[in-house]
Amino acid sequence: MNKFSLQPFNTFGVDAQCSNLIKIYSEQDIYDTLLTYGDPYKVVGGGSNILLAGDIEATVMLNQIKGIQVIDEDDNHVLVTVGGGENWHNLVMWSISHNLSGLQNLSLIPGSVGAAPIQNIGAYGVEQSSCFHSLRAISLTSGLTKLYYREDCKFGYRDSIFKKLDAGKYIITHVSYMLSKEVNINVSYGAIRNELNNRKIETPTLKQISNVICDIRASKLPDPIVVGNAGSFFKNPIVTIEAYESLLQKYPEIVAFPFGDQMKLSAGWLIDRAGWKGHSQNGAGVYKNHALVLINDGTNSGGDIWQLAMDIQADVLTKYGVEVAPEVNVWG
Ligand SMILES: Cc1cc2nc3c(=O)[nH]c(=O)nc-3n(C[C@H](O)[C@H](O)[C@H](O)COP(=O)(O)OP(=O)(O)OC[C@H]3O[C@@H](n4cnc5c(N)ncnc54)[C@H](O)[C@@H]3O)c2cc1C
Repeated sequence: MNKFSLQPFNTFGVDAQCSNLIKIYSEQDIYDTLLTYGDPYKVVGGGSNILLAGDIEATVMLNQIKGIQVIDEDDNHVLVTVGGGENWHNLVMWSISHNLSGLQNLSLIPGSVGAAPIQNIGAYGVEQSSCFHSLRAISLTSGLTKLYYREDCKFGYRDSIFKKLDAGKYIITHVSYMLSKEVNINVSYGAIRNELNNRKIETPTLKQISNVICDIRASKLPDPIVVGNAGSFFKNPIVTIEAYESLLQKYPEIVAFPFGDQMKLSAGWLIDRAGWKGHSQNGAGVYKNHALVLINDGTNSGGDIWQLAMDIQADVLTKYGVEVAPEVNVWG
C-alpha cells in the first residue's frame, strides 16, 4: 500500500506515493532497512534527476550519509572520501576553500555526491570521472559491500555501470575523489572564456571560475525552488558521421559536436527547431529559455510531464529520424 508522499523529495515537485520512506544516516541504517522492510528498494538523494510519473510500490531510502574526510595526501594530491548523502555543491565549495582543483567546473550541479557517479555528472567540459577514485556500495539484495574503482564503473557520457548492468542494485554510501594541489583549470568552454574576458580576468582562481560558472548557470537554468525541473531532460543523441552529414544537408544550421568518431547532436537545438520551446500542456512545459529543460508548469502529476516528454520524443523522431532519450530517471 502506498502511503508516503515523495513530493518534498523531487525537484519537479510532483506528488507520488511510495510504500515506505526511510532516512539513511549510516551503513547500519541500510542493514536495518534491508532486514525490516520488503523489497523492491529505491534510492533517492536530492531527487534532482528523477521524474515520478506515478506511485511506486517500493521502500525508498533517502540517502543522508554525510561527511568529507581527507584519507591520504602527497605533494600533489589529496584523496577525500565523501558521504553519499553530502550535497554535491558543498563538496565543490569545500574543495575550492582548500585550494584543491578538479571539481570547480561542476559547481552548482544539484543533488548528492552518491548520485554523481550514477550518470557521471558533467558540465563545462568536465565530468566527475576525471577526479573519481573509487566508491563504496551496498547491495540491495545481499547487503554485501562492494568497492568500485574507476575501471569498474565504465563511465561514459551521462553513463556508468549503474545505469546498465548494476542499475538499481546498489546504494552508494561513499565516494572518493583524488583532488589536485596544483591549480589545474579547464576554461576551454567558450561561455566561460567569454565571461572571464568580460570580467577582465586573465589568470582565474578556482573561486573565480566557480563564480563565473554559477552565474552562467543561474542565468540559463530555472531554479528548482522556483520552477520545478530536473535540468536537461534529454541526452544529446550520438549519431554516425553519415547520419550527421545527411541532417546537415537539410539543416545547415544544425548544432553538433565531434564525439570520438561520431557526432553529438544538440538535443536542445532539435527540440527548439521542432517548435517546442515555451510550449505548455496540462501543467507541463518546455522552459522558455532552454528547450532541453522540461518544467512543472502547475501540475501535481509527473504523468503530465512524462506525456509531454513522450510527445517531444515522437515529434523529434518524425522530423529528424533521431531519438532523444531521457537523461532523467523515470519511475512509476
Ligand atoms: C537545475 C538542474 C541542473 C542540472 N544540471 C546538471 C548538469 O549540469 N550536469 C549533470 O550531469 N546533471 C545535471 N542535473 C541533474 C542532477 O543534478 C544530477 O543527475 C545529480 O547527480 C542527481 O543527484 P540526486 O542526488 O538529486 O539524484 P536523484 O535524483 O535522487 O537520483 C538519481 C538517480 O540516482 C540514483 N541514486 C541516487 N543516489 C544514489 C545512491 N546513493 N546510490 C545508488 N543510487 C543512487 C537514484 O536511484 C536515481 O536512479 C541538473 C539538475 C537540475 C535540477
